[in-house]
Amino acid sequence: MESNKDVIIVGGGIIGLACAHYLIEKNVSVRIIEQELIGSGASHGNCGLLYFPDVIPLCEPGAVRHEIIKTITGKSSLYIKPTLDLKLIRWLVKFAAHCTQSHLDTASKAKNDILRYSMTLFDRLFTEHAIECDFEKKGVLHLFKDKKKFEAYESTNTFLQNFGFGAKALEQDDARKLEPAIHEDIAGAWHNQSIWHLRPEMLVDAWKKLLIKKGLIIEEKCKMTGFGITQGKIKSVKTVKGQYKADTFILATGAWAPETEKQLNLSIPVQPGKGYSITMERPDQSCEIPCYFYEKNIVATPWKTGYRLGGTMEFSGFSDTLNKKRLARIISGAKQYLNPSIGHPVIEEWTGLRPMTYDDLPIIDRSAFHDNLFIATGHGMLGLTLATGTGKSVCDMICNGKAQIDLTPFSLDRF
Ligand SMILES: Cc1cc2nc3c(=O)[nH]c(=O)nc-3n(C[C@H](O)[C@H](O)[C@H](O)COP(=O)(O)OP(=O)(O)OC[C@H]3O[C@@H](n4cnc5c(N)ncnc54)[C@H](O)[C@@H]3O)c2cc1C
Repeated sequence: MESNKDVIIVGGGIIGLACAHYLIEKNVSVRIIEQELIGSGASHGNCGLLYFPDVIPLCEPGAVRHEIIKTITGKSSLYIKPTLDLKLIRWLVKFAAHCTQSHLDTASKAKNDILRYSMTLFDRLFTEHAIECDFEKKGVLHLFKDKKKFEAYESTNTFLQNFGFGAKALEQDDARKLEPAIHEDIAGAWHNQSIWHLRPEMLVDAWKKLLIKKGLIIEEKCKMTGFGITQGKIKSVKTVKGQYKADTFILATGAWAPETEKQLNLSIPVQPGKGYSITMERPDQSCEIPCYFYEKNIVATPWKTGYRLGGTMEFSGFSDTLNKKRLARIISGAKQYLNPSIGHPVIEEWTGLRPMTYDDLPIIDRSAFHDNLFIATGHGMLGLTLATGTGKSVCDMICNGKAQIDLTPFSLDRF
């Protein structure tokens, strides 16, 4: 079937690629404009978890109080650089205002819809295409040092069970039988089997190659500087290499999305949430199941081809400086939960910017001012997990006028 549509996607991260995938399936011709290289943003060195049970928003009731206590006691993985940046201050105030029971109720339902949808679509993607990316379905072990916190997780688990995403509690001995790499003094673990994992940079690379074979055009080192707009319609994308025309445009620039909000007359309140990871060869007796170190907010992801530790959340603008102290904290944190937690040699120390919204819901919408412009950003901690549900929804809006899931909670006019 021939399609006469052509679409330009600005931003070559996992969200841009997923949009391209579903559009190309519909025979749409697609060009991605990327300022650096495809997959060089947050989609490169993340922890690689397809974390489908993550229905609880970051701004849950009590989140701010808990973080303040953890910050005072030096246990927080969150860092907010003192700032006079009014946009960030407003963002933080709004985040705090969303830590309510009513937001938890509405956001968890909305998140569940798109998480479930993405889960089904990832299953289909990997069944239909040979995409080499160390994909496995082993779940994640949530490890606890503190017995009280391990027991208290029962109430979180009951909440997750309502969505069919419950985990299994394992006392220390059973946890260590299942995963011998776990440290001797762990209090217990919750094994959630609805989480899958893969190596994100391999996914990006393999998916990109597959799409190029199907006709995807890519412009790299091609920063977008603005849009060419005539009579309320977007006609072209202006870049450092010249202008590119198309019928339809998708803004998938992750944490950088607010750069164009003024020209587009939109409010896109996304802040960069900086995270770190360390990639190494697998330790001799590596864990086989990905582990989440609950009290430290650190993840260890083992793959056939390597091993990664990742975490932290820093609000410090667009800096990509590698803070050695935070990297050292990730290593020392991991050592408290897993016996052989460090591998040699270290292959990469990395930092990436998560596109964070203050209500912890993504933005997937058509612009109210330019009906041939679609926005897909704000995926926060879950951009990899939500890529398929987002890409398919954007494609359905463009090709059929409507997505298969309700996108109202992800609309731009909530801001
Ligand atoms: C440490 C860490 C661990 C994480 N772990 C997980 C995990 O386990 N599971 C999960 O689901 N998510 C995880 N995430 C979150 C996930 O990585 C992000 O949500 C996701 O990568 C966002 O994808 P994106 O395509 O929106 O953004 P990006 O990957 O950042 O892509 C946006 C692209 O747009 C390009 N761009 C920006 N401006 C312009 C412009 N003007 N012109 C042209 N191009 C432009 C950028 O160069 C970039 O390549 C993690 C993040 C971090 C930092």
